[in-house]
Amino acid sequence: MLRAYSGSRLFLRFVGFLLVFAVIGIVIDQIIISIIVGCIALLGWHYRQITRLNYWLWKDRKLTPPQGTGSWEGIFNGIYRLQGKNRRRVGQLASLLSRFRQGAEALPDAAVVLDSDHNILWCNKLAQLVLGFVWPQDNGQRIDNLIRHPDFSAYLKTGKFNEPLELTSPLSENRLLEIRLMSYGDRQLLLIARDITRINQLEGMRKEFVANVSHELKTPLTVLQGYLEIMQSMEEADSMNQKPLKLMQQQTRRMQSMVEQLLVLSRIEDGADIDLEKTINMQAMLDILKDEASALAMDEYEVEFQCEEHLDCHGNEVQIRSACTNLISNAIRYTEPGGKITVRWQQVASGAKFSVTDNGLGIAAQHIGRLTERFYRVDNARSSKTGGSGLGLAIVKHALNHHYSELHITSELEKGSCFSFIIPSHLLVNR
Ligand code: ADP
Repeated sequence: MLRAYSGSRLFLRFVGFLLVFAVIGIVIDQIIISIIVGCIALLGWHYRQITRLNYWLWKDRKLTPPQGTGSWEGIFNGIYRLQGKNRRRVGQLASLLSRFRQGAEALPDAAVVLDSDHNILWCNKLAQLVLGFVWPQDNGQRIDNLIRHPDFSAYLKTGKFNEPLELTSPLSENRLLEIRLMSYGDRQLLLIARDITRINQLEGMRKEFVANVSHELKTPLTVLQGYLEIMQSMEEADSMNQKPLKLMQQQTRRMQSMVEQLLVLSRIEDGADIDLEKTINMQAMLDILKDEASALAMDEYEVEFQCEEHLDCHGNEVQIRSACTNLISNAIRYTEPGGKITVRWQQVASGAKFSVTDNGLGIAAQHIGRLTERFYRVDNARSSKTGGSGLGLAIVKHALNHHYSELHITSELEKGSCFSFIIPSHLLVNR
């Protein structure tokens, strides 16, 4: 097919055509005039083909190009072929688009596509139900004109969409939405809105339940502990009951500490609106921590404090202290007697770093990511022996979250661990 329209073949046809006129010229003895007439005829024919093509391109309603002959046959057929290719591609794109739209409609969340100026390009049906958009009337509208909320406008302006935004629904004050924005393609944005009212209610119920149960358990446990102590004091030292009574006391003490920890965790979780303006006198706090650590270490460990002076920060003292205490007591509990624990509080480039390093048992790599989960313990037997509840690091995580910080853990089995966090520069005093 292609060879029929090759340049050499067209050239040969042109030469053949001229030859015919040359022969006629020889016969009538007017060779030049005959060739000129041939050329003019050829130009005229080409002009007619161009006119047909122009007419078809701009005026004709027919989809197929005109039938061509000679060198124009290749051009018309080529255009026809391109047309077919284009039609197939458009068909493929249309089916892809409709499949994408069907997929987006099947999403359990509201989805809205925005351009770089935050104008709405497309939204699914759930967006119309959840966000109250009217389609197609809202096509091209700026999204912050439709979702009128200062928090949402501020979120859009920042351009940082790593964290989702929680927002009351524009349709009902009782509904809570979680909004996520993802950029893709040519500075376009995909907005996903999910109704989290139910999840939020359940989370609230869970927190309330844990706080209430822990609180209600406190009194019976104290009574139990009191009676156990009395019973133990009433028994002879060599009585058979001494051992079970001692065990019962140990377990009630464990339960009491767990209940205490649960209450602390509930309080810390609840205190999302803590006052970060208050100044913590770190020097005074570290002195108290040092005394507590010495009491816990009971001369069996080497505990060293390397702290920079006058390095204070803003935040909630109870929470920061709780985080530091947990890390220090863990270091002592999970290090064999004779081990060394170093506590540091130093300025670093991004803020002030608190770290507790020990040369204790260490933690295998597969556990490190899960240590801050509630009740997660690497070795249950050991944790029980040391009085652990599995809540300490969960408390640390929540306390640090409120201070724009997170726990960093490095550890090697049998070599030791380092637990650290950085209080960011904007929470430091006079820095
Ligand atoms: P627990 O009350 O059981 O100590 P935590 O939440 O404080 O609970 O700690 C979770 C687990 O992390 C512990 O059970 C322990 O196995 C491990 N862990 C914490 N700190 C250390 C440490 N300094 N060295 C080794 N293991 C640790």
